[in-house]
Amino acid sequence: MTAPVVRTPLWTEWLALRGRLDVPVVRTGRSRGASLPVPDLVAGLAGALTSDVAPGDLVVAGEVRGERGPMPSHAAPLVAGELRRAGLRVHVGPVVTTRRVVDSTQDRAALAARGAVAVDTESALLASPDGTTVVVRVVTDTPRQRLLSPALPARAVRALATLRRTAPVLDRWAAAVGEREVVLATPRSFCAGVERAIHVVESALDRFGAPVHVRRQIVHNRHVVEELERRGAVFVEEADEVPEGGVVVFSAHGVAPAVRRTAEERGLRVIDATCPLVWKVHREVGRFAAADRTVLLIGHHDHEEVVGTRGEAPDHVVVVADPEEAARVSVPDPERVSYVMQTTLAVDDAAETAAVLRERFPALAGPHTDDICYATTNRQQAVREVAARTELVIVVGSPNSSNSQRLVEVAEAAGTPAHLVDDVSEVELSWLAGVRRVGITAGASAPPALVDDVVQSLAGLGPVHVREHGDVVEDIAFAVPKELSREVVT
Ligand code: SF4
Repeated sequence: MTAPVVRTPLWTEWLALRGRLDVPVVRTGRSRGASLPVPDLVAGLAGALTSDVAPGDLVVAGEVRGERGPMPSHAAPLVAGELRRAGLRVHVGPVVTTRRVVDSTQDRAALAARGAVAVDTESALLASPDGTTVVVRVVTDTPRQRLLSPALPARAVRALATLRRTAPVLDRWAAAVGEREVVLATPRSFCAGVERAIHVVESALDRFGAPVHVRRQIVHNRHVVEELERRGAVFVEEADEVPEGGVVVFSAHGVAPAVRRTAEERGLRVIDATCPLVWKVHREVGRFAAADRTVLLIGHHDHEEVVGTRGEAPDHVVVVADPEEAARVSVPDPERVSYVMQTTLAVDDAAETAAVLRERFPALAGPHTDDICYATTNRQQAVREVAARTELVIVVGSPNSSNSQRLVEVAEAAGTPAHLVDDVSEVELSWLAGVRRVGITAGASAPPALVDDVVQSLAGLGPVHVREHGDVVEDIAFAVPKELSREVVT
């Protein structure tokens, strides 16, 4: 593929970047000319259309609008994220190109009313309709700080200085440009327990109306939580924050009996979204504790699921995080000891910890079936195989998602660099430099659309060939809680 290029319409813009980039900088005026179809980046100055954009702010075009119609800019989230990490103030939105300079308040308002955030006179003439052009503009004028103003020269000088500050990011974009193979791990993203939990909150909102309170994050994903907040869910830390008589949903991670008692005392209408596979571990703990056995709970001390599970029998449960703790743990009676596991552990690590416990306590009793759930197991197996076939693995998931973190560890253990990102804006361009095979997966709590966003952004850096890897089909479905209905989530 031909090398990428940075295009600057004006001489001043060209001068600002000339000699500062490894990639060629071409002054274009308003014509793309007979250029090759290679990812490019238009850099320059622009006017803002909305009052939340200030002089000196950057606008990265999520879409370029002109006489040829709207054109996407697939890599915009990658470049915008990189610019933000460089300490710059960045807005992402449609940039509209007009024939003549727009300055009046009315003209700006008319363009803003159609959703555009900035205006220039070149981007749409320079952009490629296939979505591989990135547009980065520094704002010189706004609805309040107009072009026709004695302050414009000073503002333009400052804007050009900001444009120079983008140079390292533009070089990272150029280094990341290239043709790629993308291998999607199958299965990935939502599991049955997460789909059920989200469905529970949505159904509760439909049935009872907002607000519906949810104790803790319903699942460990920022995007899921924000979307439910938009629909009227209110997330609280503890049940005693819910107004008496209100509706409260318990999250997929489960709660201790003490939390249920608090809800009951406050007369709350409880809808329990605890994943049935977490419930299974709670029941195992109850069974072992009832037999007066010490229960060694293999898991992460502060994880919500572990806190809830331990709460079933706090006098009997001892949390064991890893093989080192397994080697140190002491129990009152080595003949009466059992173990259970957090559902989202790394399969290999948990097996190692259990092996240490078995060696120390030959009478150790375990659960009837594995506690690490099918979704965790399947996603780890898929990412292990994908990691072996790629140079980089991107795991989509929030930092507090245990199963997402484990996917990173599994990929790294397979010898491939892996990174956890909450969404595409956190993918760093430097990870992609020289990388031609990228594996992508997502934790069980991460929406599938976030994976699509990453793939689409990579397509903005060059041709992308996407294939799935993995043949496990998940067809598990859990019934929704009886408080809502008897329907089944598939
Ligand atoms: Fe249930 Fe496993 Fe999904 Fe957790 S990851 S919600 S235990 S299916």
